[in-house]
Amino acid sequence: MTATINLNEQLKHHFGFDSFKGDQEAIIRNLLEGNDTFVLMPTGGGKSLCYQLPSLIMEGTAIVVSPLIALMKNQVDVVNGLSEESGVAHYLNSSLNRAAINQVYKDVHEGRTKLLYVAPESLNKEDNLEFFRSFKISFYAIDEAHCISEWGHDFRPEYRNIRPTINKIGAAPVIALTATATDKVRMDIKKSLGITDAKEFKSSFNRANLYYEVRQKTNDIDKQIIKFIKQHPGKSGIIYCISRKKVEELAAVLKANDIKAAAYHAGLDSATRSQTQDDFLMERIDVIVATIAFGMGIDKPDVRFVIHYDIPKSLEGYYQETGRAGRDGGEGICIAFYAYKDLQKLEKFMEGKPVAEQDIGKQLLQETAAYAETSMCRRKVLLHYFGEEYTKENCGNCDNCLHPKVQRDGQEALLIVLKAIIAVKEAFRQDYIVDFVKGRATDDIVSHHHEQLEEFGAGEDMPVKIWNPVIRQGMIAGYIHKDIESYGLLKMTAAGKRYVKNPTPFTYVEDTDFSETEEEASEA
Ligand code: ADP
Ligand code: ZN
Repeated sequence: MTATINLNEQLKHHFGFDSFKGDQEAIIRNLLEGNDTFVLMPTGGGKSLCYQLPSLIMEGTAIVVSPLIALMKNQVDVVNGLSEESGVAHYLNSSLNRAAINQVYKDVHEGRTKLLYVAPESLNKEDNLEFFRSFKISFYAIDEAHCISEWGHDFRPEYRNIRPTINKIGAAPVIALTATATDKVRMDIKKSLGITDAKEFKSSFNRANLYYEVRQKTNDIDKQIIKFIKQHPGKSGIIYCISRKKVEELAAVLKANDIKAAAYHAGLDSATRSQTQDDFLMERIDVIVATIAFGMGIDKPDVRFVIHYDIPKSLEGYYQETGRAGRDGGEGICIAFYAYKDLQKLEKFMEGKPVAEQDIGKQLLQETAAYAETSMCRRKVLLHYFGEEYTKENCGNCDNCLHPKVQRDGQEALLIVLKAIIAVKEAFRQDYIVDFVKGRATDDIVSHHHEQLEEFGAGEDMPVKIWNPVIRQGMIAGYIHKDIESYGLLKMTAAGKRYVKNPTPFTYVEDTDFSETEEEASEA
């Protein structure tokens, strides 16, 4: 039925674009056919159009759930400005007064509203139920759908109630959209939204124009950053720090060095914040020093660098934050400073939190540490984290590919690891396996009587630092699978089982050891 709609014509008519980007057309057709739809696309991929265009074509009003109250007005203005028709988009959130709410009701009931943006808490509000039942809903679009998952980088508990609320209001197709693509988050979204049968559209998350580098965090970090900025005069950049205090300090240091910089964090008043955003967009300032409060919904196409002063809390967060560089396809330099003691600091921060949350937080941190310490292609590691295989040997655009380390023979070590995983019945995590092959009779191992197994200590004569990189690189090579459903138990893949019967050459690269070098550096 939808085959008869000329979507290109509609695209041109409403948005002025000549052709669809990536999977947009297939996504839109799927939704027009009334199917649940799941869209995984990196930032800048063109997600909004996937629900905006169908909303204009379909009968009724589309409900767009979005977490960003501060940006809702802006999102709505953009739609109303883009489209021929004015005033097809409206929004409902806690910032509106009674009169404005009544106006929204009126616009919807009189059929003007094709897209109604709502904050999740407004959707879920009991008082609004009657209103949502009083008009025809074409479909529900759940934007930033990863907010539903504790494994995402921006968990919002209200997102959990979306499905129950939809059930109360009345069913219509659901389109969920996110730029976060780990398997765990993906499963959470589908389950929680009740769209396990949704057709999934996943674009590649590779951002070929972004250059990735990790530097050891030493006492001269400020000097390194100033030098870098001076080497890129007039270029726009963002520097992320974990704490507001550090944001303020670093911004002051940069300003004292004649760099047009400003601080941005949630503790500043909203006038200052929006002034800073404007100044950045209008290029009155070059560098924003910010906490992660900065960036969501900021669409500056020519950000040339993103620097992480502190290690990010998760690789997804890192991907999102670095994703703000080079959105126009031009150069984007992404540098993260890493010190082992930062990691410990972050783990300490988590101590007061509920145990389950700590468990998740620590695992996410470990993935970031693995990314920082690896000597493999960083792009390969990042994409692997998002369930994507990057097949090129050398990406040519990360520090490790530009300065490759020597490959070492890891065949025997891999075999020892695989046999260990089998010996403990694929029921333990990486740390446990490492202790096991090293022959460390920890309390945990003894309580399982695993120190009595023949495979226990099979690698005790090998260098202790070999195990983590071999396991991680064995995962990326497809021999080992880390099972996320069971919080990271190591399992054998079919290729791993074959490897045990018929081992073949396997090389690995050593990790960079940040713990030692950092101490030396701070003594200097
Ligand atoms: P996302 O939400 O995935 O980050 P957006 O929806 O903001 O991405 O789109 C990114 C940019 O691409 C926007 O400037 C948008 O106008 C533009 N865009 C989207 N679809 C098309 C298209 N088919 N042709 C040209 N530009 C497009
Ligand atoms: Zn690379």
